Amino acid sequence: MTDTISAISTAIGEAGIGIVRMSGKDSIEIANKIFKDEKIEKLKDGENRKLIYGHIVDPEKDEIIDEVLIVYMKGPYTYTREDMVEIYCHGGVIPVRRILELTLKYGARLADRGEFTKRAFLNGRLDLSQAEAVIDMINAKTDKSYDVSLNQLEGSLSKEIREMRDILLNMIAHIEVSIDFPDEDIEEVTYEQLEEDAKRVYKKIDNLLSTADRGRILRDGLNTVILGKPNVGKSSLLNAILRENRAIVTDVPGTTRDIIEEYVNIDGIPLKIVDTAGIRDTEDLVEKIGVDRAKEMVDKADLIIAVFDMSEDLSKEDKKIIDIIQNKKSIILLNKTDLPVKLNEKQIRKILPDKKIINTSIVKGIGLDELINSIKDMFYSGEMDIKNEVVITNVRHKNQLLKAKNNIEDGLEAIKLNMPLDCIEVDIRNCWKNLGEISGDTVTEDILDKIFSEFCIGK
Ligand code: GDP
Ligand code: ZN
Repeated sequence: MTDTISAISTAIGEAGIGIVRMSGKDSIEIANKIFKDEKIEKLKDGENRKLIYGHIVDPEKDEIIDEVLIVYMKGPYTYTREDMVEIYCHGGVIPVRRILELTLKYGARLADRGEFTKRAFLNGRLDLSQAEAVIDMINAKTDKSYDVSLNQLEGSLSKEIREMRDILLNMIAHIEVSIDFPDEDIEEVTYEQLEEDAKRVYKKIDNLLSTADRGRILRDGLNTVILGKPNVGKSSLLNAILRENRAIVTDVPGTTRDIIEEYVNIDGIPLKIVDTAGIRDTEDLVEKIGVDRAKEMVDKADLIIAVFDMSEDLSKEDKKIIDIIQNKKSIILLNKTDLPVKLNEKQIRKILPDKKIINTSIVKGIGLDELINSIKDMFYSGEMDIKNEVVITNVRHKNQLLKAKNNIEDGLEAIKLNMPLDCIEVDIRNCWKNLGEISGDTVTEDILDKIFSEFCIGK
């Protein structure tokens, strides 16, 4: 990993400026081959962290490529801990690409996805959970999800993991001493002490895992499905929510053939709303729910908003929808309250006794605030203060924690049964190892490759 990498670090397209950056020991040498300035002959250590004005020149043709600012940053106080050079040129596709090509021609290699951050990790500047927080910050959909990833980048999760691993390592050390020197006059480990320590770790793992649901929602959005027979007002509802709440810009394709997906920001909760609209007129929605994607969506939903039409009697389709939502987290909208009422509200309340039921007139904007507030209440039930809480947002972390939880449960079991120390040690060690994969202390090359391949090039 001693070669020098180069990449365009800004988004490709029309922009005020674009940045090409290099990392590695040859960065300065390569930069000096293509950078010209009237006063300064060469970038050198004395120019560390100074922004210098000049030109990028193709040395072979002696042709000016662009007018730039350039900065040399000497390692190890850089993002990657290596020597780095950043070139600020005009935005737009052509200048950045031509400058990138020159750096490649004079000795740099095109960086892989996330390779700058990977180097930061491999050089010990960030642990793995912090490196992963960098992707999450880039992808954050709301201020709150951004706060959580910033927190993680600052090392909040790393600290929790480190504390647990310290306890475990301490347990391992005590066990080993007791096994290796059973007769010596040293303090032998007691089962009581082991149990106490294991319980502490168990509790910490459990606490972290209890945040994972909210974490996933913050990261990926609260999966919300709008259900209702044709013409009850599903699309009108989606449009009304979109109008009143800032839509989140996302590169997730919004519209598929039969389903419309939109992201909205409800006071920091990213809501991913799915309107089953496309299924509506042509086919029987409820039939479809039995078989295909619509069913899958309902299964995966965190929340279902079921819409009924107050101006009509309860139909067969409505009843099927009621069946579907019985065991799901759902909010019931009794819509079109502005029209003469036909639907028997009492009946609905009787069949769905535990559900939140709201009377709405979507066309008149009635009941929407109550809906939004109910969604917020659901999410915040159990109060959370994101700024100060470590929230597990990453599926990989969650899975590692689940494994570690199993290990420590096995360990506790073995301790309670007074099993031999070396049996207990196996569980403790596995727990320690699985937690270490979160921070990257014990991690394999292919896991690393997979994680960093999710980054963009230039980060
Ligand atoms: P969808 O098929 O469930 O998506 O229903 P739409 O949103 O397309 O609405 C069907 C029709 O019902 C449209 O003409 C809407 O304007 C109308 N509609 C929706 N909500 C209300 C409401 O609260 N009151 C009245 N009177 N009409 C509504
Ligand atoms: Zn519709």
